[in-house]
Amino acid sequence: MRICPRCGRETSAVIRGLCPRCFAEVYGVARVPREVRVEACRYCGAVRLGGRWVDSGGTFEGAVDSVVRWLSERLQPVEPLAGVRVESWEALTRPDWSTRILLRLRGWTRGGVEVEGEAVTTVRLEPSICPRCKTRVSGEYEVLVQVRGAPAGRLSRLVEEAVRRAGVGDAVIEVSESRDGVDAYLTHRGAARRLLKALQRLAPLRVAGPYREFVGLTSRGKRRTRDTYVARLAGDR
Ligand SMILES: [Zn+2]
Ligand SMILES: [Zn+2]
Repeated sequence: MRICPRCGRETSAVIRGLCPRCFAEVYGVARVPREVRVEACRYCGAVRLGGRWVDSGGTFEGAVDSVVRWLSERLQPVEPLAGVRVESWEALTRPDWSTRILLRLRGWTRGGVEVEGEAVTTVRLEPSICPRCKTRVSGEYEVLVQVRGAPAGRLSRLVEEAVRRAGVGDAVIEVSESRDGVDAYLTHRGAARRLLKALQRLAPLRVAGPYREFVGLTSRGKRRTRDTYVARLAGDR
């Protein structure tokens, strides 16, 4: 038995000169990022972990839990620990797009000494659309914004920048390049108007439309319409 110089308790295991409890308090157990950003599908709640979309039951708790499980397998232990995992987690704020969580961690040394610790991080879910939902909603777009008048590559970058500035990324179903230019499919009209405004601030554009088209009935029997705008870079004819 040795005496821990920090807390004065007797300890059989010493890590960096401290008892396991003091070691965890002073050095922590794992290198936990302050924030974990993960794309989450705004339709079904699936989260994108390491390039793979993982179903999480459609709740914020489920999404955070999937992120924590994934994180647990990738956490780096603090030296000289050999490994670490998340034992459990608890939400410090109401689970939402951004959730502050407490992680209860268990690390271990090569010699098998266990060390318990805690860490706080924020799981930030970024609204996106998983491929399955994309396929489903792509038949349900409300607005098509056609951008014309320059090579598609240049228009794509312009649209990308405008989407970012307008903050409408979660309403964009798809942006596709064609021989004529770029087509952006959006879920609702308000987002399309914001996108067009942002585009006009970035480049001189003449906007025509909306051209409204009747495309059938919704499941509730309401008329379904689609709008198309054509935005053309000024100077092009
Ligand atoms: Zn101690
Ligand atoms: Zn989805």
